[in-house]
Amino acid sequence: MLTANSLTLCDYLSALPGMLRGRAFQRAALRRELAVCFGVDEARIGLYDTGRAALRVLLQQHGIGAGAEVIVPAYTCVVVPNQIPALAATLRFVDVSADTLNFDWDILAAAIGPATRAVIVPHNFGLPCRVPEALRAAHPQVKFIDDAAHGFASQLDGQWLGSYHDGAFFSFEYSKNLSGGIGGLAIFPSGMAAPQQEWPELSCADEWRLLATLKAHLLTARWPLLGRITMAINRRVGLIYRSADAEVTQGVPHPVRAMPLLSSVLVRRQLAHLSATLAHKQALARRYQQALAALPFIKQWPLPAGAECHWVRYPFALSRPVGNKAAVARRLSQASGLNIGVWFDDVIHPAGSFRHGYVAGSAPQGEQLAATVLNLPMNIALADDARLAGRLDKLLAELRCIEKENIQ
Ligand SMILES: *Cc1c(COP(=O)(O)O)cnc(C)c1O
Repeated sequence: MLTANSLTLCDYLSALPGMLRGRAFQRAALRRELAVCFGVDEARIGLYDTGRAALRVLLQQHGIGAGAEVIVPAYTCVVVPNQIPALAATLRFVDVSADTLNFDWDILAAAIGPATRAVIVPHNFGLPCRVPEALRAAHPQVKFIDDAAHGFASQLDGQWLGSYHDGAFFSFEYSKNLSGGIGGLAIFPSGMAAPQQEWPELSCADEWRLLATLKAHLLTARWPLLGRITMAINRRVGLIYRSADAEVTQGVPHPVRAMPLLSSVLVRRQLAHLSATLAHKQALARRYQQALAALPFIKQWPLPAGAECHWVRYPFALSRPVGNKAAVARRLSQASGLNIGVWFDDVIHPAGSFRHGYVAGSAPQGEQLAATVLNLPMNIALADDARLAGRLDKLLAELRCIEKENIQ
């Protein structure tokens, strides 16, 4: 997986002296800068160690607890549903639309019941969408909370994703739009402030692990071999930062912690060159879109009217499910030299994670997406040049072969 999408080596190196200014300074500065980006009051910005923690605090502030039902898209990451039983609320999966990667509003409307108090609105791969006004008006007791983990700086009709529903959460994990190593942001809705609470801090050892892991990711995006060696050394000496296994395999909720100092500085560095980053990624997306358009059997998702998308990865789908999508992604990566991803490989990603009672077959469109969607990297280390064009040619040739084998 190619990660650290918007982070330069220079950002990384200059973050280290920045850390000397301390947590309080860096977090306050980041909150100020984010408030300006989103056009909201600073009091509405909450900074946490993960996106999942930001979701937890948002749900709590909305009073979601025992007796409440929370709707979650059946095409998501396991850490999202994990937060709901932790609040004693009940969880209900609702299918997404293969046409938009997000909710089908009619299916969602039909699923909202008398106990529904919150809906987690997906914006998969960064595609922004808006809940129809009529649907919101028909259910004033329901809070629509954006899972904007893939879409930092995506916009709809000139408004930033996350600023127009009942709150939103974002992730700064390694693989997301901006990389803090880890990190989460909550935008609280108008009239609600982030709770003034001293959250526990990451341990000093974990902060070092974060620094070391991030360095390996950064190197991998530029010099794959060097990156792999660095990662192997990190593993040897116990310098890898990762989520607890129990979160994935047993659905254990993640405790809320403060945003690490390193993450705060890194996100600030990336905000400083955000417009250049977005321009670079838009050029990559255009290149991918044009290349894949030569294969009519490959599905792509055009931007909705009025939308600007900060793609986290660029998604495309095969014409029909393949038995082993991970193997297909490896084969395409080897043939093209491009890093082809498998997000999401299950309705509750990653495959093999805790099911939270999901009934197989109950979300056919989410399952179809999980079986067919692959993605291309959106990384500023990847230049839009002749070498990329050559790699895309090889990707297309291999996709043609796969399609032929697939229809036989
Ligand atoms: C990564 C991700 C999250 C969680 O973000 P963390 O910062 O890892 O907690 C939530 N939703 C989606 C769709 C994600 O991909």
